[in-house]
Amino acid sequence: MESETLPTADAELPEIRQLSTSVVNKIAAGEVIERPASVVKELMENSVDAGAKRVDVSLAKGGMAMIRVADNGCGMAPEQFELALASHATSKIRDADDLFSVATMGFRGEALASIAEISSMRIRSRPRDATAGAELEVTGGVAEPLAPCGCAAGTSMEVRSLFYNTPVRRKFMRTAQTEYGHAAEAFARIALPRPDVHFTLRHNDRLIHDLPPVDHWRERIGALFTRELADNLIWVEGRDDLLRLSGYVADPQLSRSNNRMQYLFINGRHIRDRALQHALTESYRGLLLTGRHPIAFIRLGLAADTVDVNVHPTKLEVRFQDSGRAYSMVLSTIRGHFLANDMTARVGGRNETDTSPQSPNQAAQSHAQLNAQLNAADPNAADHAARSSLQWARQSPGTQSHLQLPDPGASSSSAEVLEALTRRTLAGRGEAPATGAAPTNAAAAPSAVPATSSPATGALPEPPAVLPVISRLGMQIHNRYLVTETEEGMVVIDQHALHERVLYEQFREKALEGTLQVQRMLVPEPVTLAPKEAAAVLDAADTLAQLGLEVEPFGGDTVLVSTHPAMLKARPGELLRHVVDLLMQGGKGPQRRDLLDELLHMMSCKAAVKAGDPLSPEEVSALLEQRDLCQDAHHCPHGRPTALIFTPDELDKQFQRT
Ligand code: ADP
Ligand code: MG
Repeated sequence: MESETLPTADAELPEIRQLSTSVVNKIAAGEVIERPASVVKELMENSVDAGAKRVDVSLAKGGMAMIRVADNGCGMAPEQFELALASHATSKIRDADDLFSVATMGFRGEALASIAEISSMRIRSRPRDATAGAELEVTGGVAEPLAPCGCAAGTSMEVRSLFYNTPVRRKFMRTAQTEYGHAAEAFARIALPRPDVHFTLRHNDRLIHDLPPVDHWRERIGALFTRELADNLIWVEGRDDLLRLSGYVADPQLSRSNNRMQYLFINGRHIRDRALQHALTESYRGLLLTGRHPIAFIRLGLAADTVDVNVHPTKLEVRFQDSGRAYSMVLSTIRGHFLANDMTARVGGRNETDTSPQSPNQAAQSHAQLNAQLNAADPNAADHAARSSLQWARQSPGTQSHLQLPDPGASSSSAEVLEALTRRTLAGRGEAPATGAAPTNAAAAPSAVPATSSPATGALPEPPAVLPVISRLGMQIHNRYLVTETEEGMVVIDQHALHERVLYEQFREKALEGTLQVQRMLVPEPVTLAPKEAAAVLDAADTLAQLGLEVEPFGGDTVLVSTHPAMLKARPGELLRHVVDLLMQGGKGPQRRDLLDELLHMMSCKAAVKAGDPLSPEEVSALLEQRDLCQDAHHCPHGRPTALIFTPDELDKQFQRT
């Protein structure tokens, strides 16, 4: 038998030892306790898990000198102290199956063991029905004998000299102010989802937050942040058979330069999730300037067995069984709200009726209305919330009941005028090839309007440049702005931004339907790229094909471009360069739609009239008519407003009539 010939241990081999409990705990502490804020988080979670209705947190020197968390929860009996401090000891789960139905914040049973190992800790606790409490001091994992003490019902844990025996960690602590910032953030993340619990935070004996229990989440948000923020929150909610989303997003007028004000809670637990953050960003697309980030407080509720919370030592990240579903839920719920509400920038401050806090009922109603509209548009869709983002994007503008549709005759002719305008713009910039150059043959998709069907290409009379051009719907001033009147007031529109938005939506709709007009080149153009770039381009071939840009490998790092979008007759090689730049910037998240969107933005920007381009009256009318057909005519794809409204009230005020 093989085993008889097993070699004996070589004296040179390293010895394998079982680590002491103390070392095991220190290793665990290294994962779980990064800084004072981690202690705040773990202790507060324990208090919430203990059913506390009041939790008082005190810090000294940002938590570096002292952290105390006192609660009025269920408390611990004296004989439980030792186990509570032991590693892998918990009252919250029993066996591995319980891991899939965790209803508490904690379950790993290593926080107290870890903290006690690397600090000096004092625990006092008394169960509600006990007459006396007990007290225990632990330093560096070594406990003093348990002593009786008089104390209030509940538990108080005090941690001093954190990291005193782990010099490396201690060195990584920053200033007291920085550590305080992290600790206050940890406090907020636990206080936010529990408006029913009274939380206080003191720093160096100063009361920073006193958050009494409140009925509405908005009030807790307002108490923790500012009244102004709370007043500008928009209630959103959505559900399907597996997921429930509710919460607040901020009016796009309030935004941040980073994404730290995006609070996501899964079953009451704060998490960070890149995909969901991406969904949030997507839902604000076109409403915020580049570089600005939305503010949101979102709760997702789902069956505990459809999300794995045991993938990260501090449970900051989770794994969804169906992450695409959560993504679509966030995107469709929030975006749906924005679509159903007018988001135009108003001159001279916001209109009160528009931004006054919306009650959950109102929001539910408008959401229900939107659902009804969307479902009416697609009888097969059981529920709006289950729709994917692409399905959302496919919604034709006509399904939005608040949009006014011009009569069909007028709309088709304005479309033709605009198409001619777009071609004129491109021709003016030398983007279109001279007739007869570059042999191409048109391979128009079935529903695309053939290029030749539009009237008198480029033959429109040049309008005078100085006088305003007046059409039946409005006028152009300074060759850049269109002025018109709507029910809301006088509207001044940026012609480039509006045209860009109109084209973007047209291109997008066609791209998603697969009916974007493409031109097949008789002689495909080879483009040589860096190896990484070529791979990225070929990876994205499907998305590019949707846009009419067909690419295929051509040996080595050369790709062959065989079609291009008919709208952009510019050198396909140059177009591909742009694509490469976009692809190489990426690297995160579900970027397929991103890429499509970016390319659509680029195409629409190139094809749109510029500021300074004179327009004919027909073109002014055509643009203004198309405006009513836009899903979001109020923002260009970069998020700049396309229109300013001067309400009659505002004008009256300016003329001092009121
Ligand atoms: P976990 O929270 O994962 O169970 P911990 O190490 O944080 O692990 O806590 C261990 C145990 O100590 C808990 O399961 C709980 O039974 C008890 N415990 C900790 N803090 C409190 C508290 N504030 N009130 C009551 N019991 C507590
Ligand atoms: Mg715990």
